[in-house]
Amino acid sequence: MTPMQDATTTVAALRERVMTFAREREWEQFHSPKNLSMALAAEAGELMEHFLWTESAASQAVVREPAKREEIADEIADVVIYALEFANISGLDLAAAIEAKLAKNAAKYPVEKARGNAKKYTEL
Ligand SMILES: [Mg+2]
Repeated sequence: MTPMQDATTTVAALRERVMTFAREREWEQFHSPKNLSMALAAEAGELMEHFLWTESAASQAVVREPAKREEIADEIADVVIYALEFANISGLDLAAAIEAKLAKNAAKYPVEKARGNAKKYTEL
């Protein structure tokens, strides 16, 4: 099997891999929207643990440490796997949802107001 990489792997292929993994184990019975959203948040917490109590600049170094990098990759993969499985069980189209949300974000954060500015849209 060819190794998966971002440049050559579609979202559909990722969704299929995640669905097959869950089906083979008969885990879909546990994959309610509630459980998957909570699992996703738990994995986001595991990702955050790698950066807890570090300054922002130091977190840039942490993500490049060879010893930490695989663990961090595992956690971001867990987050995305749960997001993909959430899309699978709910029938949401991720690409369409991302496109729609980016359009909403673009309306809330016009480039001329938001460039170089980290304020929330309500404060721009
Ligand atoms: Mg994890």
